Amino acid sequence: MISENIYRSFGICDELAELVRASEAKVRHRFEAIDEIAEYNTLKVVRAMQECGVSEACMLETTGYGYNDIGRDKLEAVYAKIFGAEDALVRSQIVCGTHALAIALYGNTRPGDEVYSPVGMPYDTLQQVLGVTEGRGSLREYGVTFRYTELLPDGGFDYEGIRSSISEKTRLVEIQRSRGYSDRRSFSVEEIGELISFVRSIKKDVCIMVDNCYGEYTELTEPSQVGADMVVGSLIKNPGGGIAPVGGYIAGTSECIENCAARLTAPGLGKELGPSLGANRLLYQGTFLAPSVTASAQKSAVLAAEVFSGLGFACHPDAEDIRHDIIESVCLKDPDRVISFCKGIQKAAAVDSFAAPEPAPMPGYESDIIMAAGCFISGSSIELSADGPLREPYNVFFQGGLNYAHGKLGIMMAAQQLLDDGLIRL
Ligand SMILES: *Cc1c(COP(=O)(O)O)cnc(C)c1O
Repeated sequence: MISENIYRSFGICDELAELVRASEAKVRHRFEAIDEIAEYNTLKVVRAMQECGVSEACMLETTGYGYNDIGRDKLEAVYAKIFGAEDALVRSQIVCGTHALAIALYGNTRPGDEVYSPVGMPYDTLQQVLGVTEGRGSLREYGVTFRYTELLPDGGFDYEGIRSSISEKTRLVEIQRSRGYSDRRSFSVEEIGELISFVRSIKKDVCIMVDNCYGEYTELTEPSQVGADMVVGSLIKNPGGGIAPVGGYIAGTSECIENCAARLTAPGLGKELGPSLGANRLLYQGTFLAPSVTASAQKSAVLAAEVFSGLGFACHPDAEDIRHDIIESVCLKDPDRVISFCKGIQKAAAVDSFAAPEPAPMPGYESDIIMAAGCFISGSSIELSADGPLREPYNVFFQGGLNYAHGKLGIMMAAQQLLDDGLIRL
């Protein structure tokens, strides 16, 4: 086989290549289910573009204030359709997921309000936004408090705890779909829908926001279709399809989106300002490719689960589990293995393959973080990447892969690096 030689040329030993091939054969049936979801979601995207009358003119750009940017405005209408929402903000001025989430939080709370998470502590970078950890300009400085309820030990929702935590002050409920750097599992859209119904049964008019990062297009529906007022995410993760050069989105009710727009630009300016510069075409292309790119990342994650559990490491989710995001966590139980794994992923990259990642402090994170990402778009984690905080239990989070062949190569390179460093044995 040609492929044997080519893997050898990357320094992958035949035994490892054989092991990965055997793992792949075991999980092939999972790929079919993932492809079916991608097919449906791709058609959903195409239909939304057709219904919105996306035209060649939408690919052009505006500058300055960006008034009457039809490409930008239509893309927002396309997002609203895809997410089953009334409206959306999709902007290259939104720098990342944390920025989009911060806009949604600041836009939809006022002094005296409380933000509440029924699913445990939110993602690391949001803790400074909320003011849980010291953060200049945090919501806490503006008189918005924060409260959360831990998940039950089995990972389920603590309905009693949630009931007693929602009060008159509760203005915005934040539900994180994906696990982030925590040890919990990710939630399905169905589970999120149940949680939303429960929260609404206690307080009808509360604003419910879902941190949708890494979850987009992994299922047939999105949380905005089961009652969330806003879903929020990053365009350098799933929905940008690896093509969007930067950006974030918020899709939701007209009211919430207006509030976000007033915060993103300025009160009175709202959605009407914001030049697309050269981004429109890339954002459309990325949106178009996103379902299939997400599927490639999911297939890579399934293979990673099979390979690394075969090597004796606990992997979440399991290869057979239904997935609700693109993340695979591998519990390596040792900091050296985390570093070695990340080095292997970096070596598989098309860009910066010669660089060696090192753990370092990162803005917004409490522990040192190691990140392997040889990316076309800086920091893009829909591209093949691996990262993790250097803290117990030394989980590494594997994600991305713009195509499956590259995801597979990354898995092999990570395992080979662990072998070469004497940290595992076949
Ligand atoms: C990635 C991510 C974010 C936002 O991170 P950015 O790096 O700012 O895009 C927020 N929540 C979750 C769960 C994430 O995975």
